[in-house]
Amino acid sequence: MPTNTQHTDILIIGAGLAGLSAASKLSKLDVEVTIVDKGRGVGGRLAGRRIGDASFDHGAQFMTTRDPRFVAQVQQWLSAGVAEEWYSSFPGQPNSHARYRGVPTMTAIAKHLAEGLNIQKETKALSVAIDRDNWLVELDNGRRINAKALLITSPVPQTLDLLASSDLKLTASNQARLERINYESCIAVMAILDQPSFIDPPGALAFDKGPIAWISDNLQKGVSVIPSVTIHGSGDFSHKHFGDKRDKIAQQLINAAKPYLGANVVDFEVHGWRYSKPVVVDPSPCMVASEATELPTLVLAGDAFAGPRVEGAVISGWAAADFLTSSFR
Ligand SMILES: Cc1cc2nc3c(=O)[nH]c(=O)nc-3n(C[C@H](O)[C@H](O)[C@H](O)COP(=O)(O)OP(=O)(O)OC[C@H]3O[C@@H](n4cnc5c(N)ncnc54)[C@H](O)[C@@H]3O)c2cc1C
Repeated sequence: MPTNTQHTDILIIGAGLAGLSAASKLSKLDVEVTIVDKGRGVGGRLAGRRIGDASFDHGAQFMTTRDPRFVAQVQQWLSAGVAEEWYSSFPGQPNSHARYRGVPTMTAIAKHLAEGLNIQKETKALSVAIDRDNWLVELDNGRRINAKALLITSPVPQTLDLLASSDLKLTASNQARLERINYESCIAVMAILDQPSFIDPPGALAFDKGPIAWISDNLQKGVSVIPSVTIHGSGDFSHKHFGDKRDKIAQQLINAAKPYLGANVVDFEVHGWRYSKPVVVDPSPCMVASEATELPTLVLAGDAFAGPRVEGAVISGWAAADFLTSSFR
């Protein structure tokens, strides 16, 4: 075995909410867990960015809670000061369920979960192969990780590409379940304003038609110390224009947002989320993809399984951890 190979019990690909929640649960066991993520930070689609003095949540905007286990988890985050309730109704509308935000930004929740975990950032898994009873994962830094079990939490089309890189065969029914999963994309514009917007409290606007799906006022939300907004293109608009020149498409979204801002945009950046939210999900909380195959233990998790939102990602990560716990007993 070459010396640039690290050994671990469980390798998790992805330090988004699914991977971090799984690792956090598994860290209570006597097994070694290693996480790799290609990103510079943790959190995946719970993403933030700074432009000068402005800060932005440019991925997930808030969390909602349905499952009592996730309600308890969010209570812990509230107590730890990394989350708070943002709002539970729009002006003039009846109260609905609470929307919780990260403090100061959504990524605070991921950073909190990541404390004490063994995470290798800016490390992309390029391919996965079998090495006797274990997995051998090749990384883009020239190193490899040999693991007894593998948990993959990337968006499912990326997971399928990774598995195809080694010509690994799942059962036909699992392969079909994965191929059914589908995501919408989202063009996110992060724009600095010359003065506070005139968006009403709580600083959010949701649209059900037109090019824009959502506008957040990051100053009102408490994310930014200077006026700034995040504009999310709708699924249809983002899909149609995903391949277009980004600055041009951002300008179209800024123009469409202008009537709601009451301020001028002085600078902006744009990010394209190819896999933003799953629109077709799998009914199981996670997939034991090695089931009925000769493969070493392989589990897939993420928001494509337990529900297309932050809560689903966490619950899916926990379900994967429960399966891995039972397989290491
Ligand atoms: C624009 C936008 C708005 C959203 N709004 C909301 C909202 O308001 N409320 C809500 O609840 N949800 C929202 N969501 C959805 C929410 O963000 C996701 O459901 C959740 O964050 C998914 O977590 P995950 O761990 O399943 O996946 P991810 O967060 O995507 O994590 C996967 C991780 O895997 C890493 N990775 C992928 N491939 C590799 C590889 N080969 N090697 C190493 N690392 C790899 C990625 O870098 C990433 O960090 C939104 C998402 C987007 C994009």
